[in-house]
Amino acid sequence: MDPDADVIISGAGPAGTIAAWHLQKSGIRTLIFDKSSFPRYKVCGAGLTHKILSVIPFDISPVIHTTIRSFRFSSGFTDVFTRTSEFPLMYCTMRDELDAFLLAKAEEAGAKIMTDEKVIELKQDDKGVMVKTAKGEYRSMFLIGADGASSRVARTFGLNSSIEWGIAWEAEVTSTPEMIQQYKDTVFLDWGTFPGGYAWIFPKKDHFSIGIGGPAHMAKKMPAYYEKFLVSAGIPVSETISNRSHPLPVRTRQAVFHSGRTLIAGDAAGLTDALTGEGIFWAVKSGMMAAEVIRQRMDGEISDLALYSGRINSEILPELLEAKNIGALFNAIPLRIHHWVRDSERVWRAFQKVLRGERTFTDVPRAFGKWQPLWKPVCMLAYVIQILKEKKYMNHA
Ligand SMILES: Cc1cc2nc3c(=O)[nH]c(=O)nc-3n(C[C@H](O)[C@H](O)[C@H](O)COP(=O)(O)OP(=O)(O)OC[C@H]3O[C@@H](n4cnc5c(N)ncnc54)[C@H](O)[C@@H]3O)c2cc1C
Repeated sequence: MDPDADVIISGAGPAGTIAAWHLQKSGIRTLIFDKSSFPRYKVCGAGLTHKILSVIPFDISPVIHTTIRSFRFSSGFTDVFTRTSEFPLMYCTMRDELDAFLLAKAEEAGAKIMTDEKVIELKQDDKGVMVKTAKGEYRSMFLIGADGASSRVARTFGLNSSIEWGIAWEAEVTSTPEMIQQYKDTVFLDWGTFPGGYAWIFPKKDHFSIGIGGPAHMAKKMPAYYEKFLVSAGIPVSETISNRSHPLPVRTRQAVFHSGRTLIAGDAAGLTDALTGEGIFWAVKSGMMAAEVIRQRMDGEISDLALYSGRINSEILPELLEAKNIGALFNAIPLRIHHWVRDSERVWRAFQKVLRGERTFTDVPRAFGKWQPLWKPVCMLAYVIQILKEKKYMNHA
């Protein structure tokens, strides 16, 4: 039987749609399934760090609400200061708009889109892949699992080990027009208060997205933290439109991201940064890599998809693992780092450069020069301190 497409993609988030766009541009016939109808609300801050512009192959300005140049930092809800950059550091959007926009780009490039169609069963053998949805059965040569944190594709093919779970809450709240105008280029961050997590406010064109994230085992303490953060931020809330949580999957070590004719990308692969919770950049990057490797396989340049796991392990995982180390260090000495960001031009410049993609997390240990050999032991110690702080917070806060 003829396949329905060369590649089937399960999931039309950023990982799936960007993979589809690249595949179609290489002349590879792609079919995307998503269980939702688009546009659909997605629990997400939808903050895009500037570096994402280097991996999205077209202009996304139609769905950008605000451009961020300032950060208002607090720690323990006090010790407040604002730092402003002369360059854009982040862009805020809404996921219903961003994802529908990316999906339309994939469709324009020729991808076939089947929304409101959930993938329920998957099989693969030497000849191809069979995807069963709630509405029918489809065949392709290759499959990309871009179906998010609870990925059925990753579970079916045993690719979901070594993942640590975080959790994040997002509320969409309306406020006064004056507040929205005043903070339209400012992100609020409270860090060092909630061990292993932080709180943020992202300004959107007509409201604020307010969120908190941290380790999943501390979820029950998050609502109280959210309430205190909201009061301390001084943002009057007219209405809370939505307030929901969603898991954050974080890979803790190198892993296998392919199985036979299948690859996993984005949250399905656990590619979220443990320090900030950023996942859209990594979804886009891994989606792009998945398309490149399938193109190479279809052109006969490689004989299997193992190259994909190799590339994720060498080009993405080192950054995510270092983000986790830096997170542990931050949690061990939050106030010191808070003050470094306030007082040191060098540290504030480094902060901006990481958001802009001019520096990476793996550059951080190198900045310690002759002390670099101490980086790993110090991070190990920081992990122990973080665990103790989490326990203390759970017992007493
Ligand atoms: C509260 C919160 C705030 C966040 N804020 C940010 C932020 O500000 N910036 C940032 O970069 N990251 C943020 N993240 C992380 C970000 O949301 C994810 O990393 C990102 O969405 C991953 O994209 P993806 O394409 O891999 O998966 P998703 O965006 O989750 O897309 C997966 C798609 O697969 C579909 N799907 C699932 N199962 C099936 C199935 N069986 N059949 C068919 N379709 C299916 C879903 O409907 C969905 O459309 C946040 C996460 C949370 C929880």
